[in-house]
Amino acid sequence: MTPKQKYRASIKGQVTEAKYKIKHNAGRRVRYATDPGFRAGLLESAVGYYISHRERGLRYVYFKKYGITWEERDALLAAQGGRCKLCGDHDHHAKSRGWHTDHDPAKKKGEPGFIRGILCLNCNTGLGRFKESAKLLEQAALYIRGTCHASSEDPAIWGATPCMVAETPAGRPGNQFCERVPFFG
Ligand SMILES: [Zn+2]
Repeated sequence: MTPKQKYRASIKGQVTEAKYKIKHNAGRRVRYATDPGFRAGLLESAVGYYISHRERGLRYVYFKKYGITWEERDALLAAQGGRCKLCGDHDHHAKSRGWHTDHDPAKKKGEPGFIRGILCLNCNTGLGRFKESAKLLEQAALYIRGTCHASSEDPAIWGATPCMVAETPAGRPGNQFCERVPFFG
């Protein structure tokens, strides 16, 4: 068989299979709607199995990833007063997946400090968008305050002497650029 013939045969096979599936599934749908015994059996077997094993699978994946169980996560959340550890919100803001387990990517699973806390969706994705960088987040804080290091609470990072640069190159107040702030550094 030439490659072209092979390709045509495979397409033909796929079409035949799809046609069969449509016909087969249509029959099953009718039976599901009209035969209570068939419906109960299906729910009992396939769907019930799926639901019970789905949770087991999810639990396993979670434990493999974070090294703690769902119960341990819930205990951590309870210790935080049922609130996001970063913003203190009672709402996790996630549509379906609930609270986020935040871990330190620089540490290994099981190491102390690997699990940093339980966060809401906004805080967790926020940290990710700032590349989990304390420096970038500090920079962002300075940026939204519209100041340079003069108002920073941490003189160890930004220097103790207030900055004298008052204006941006465009002359706007706020978001002042200072040569001592290591932008993009
Ligand atoms: Zn939060």
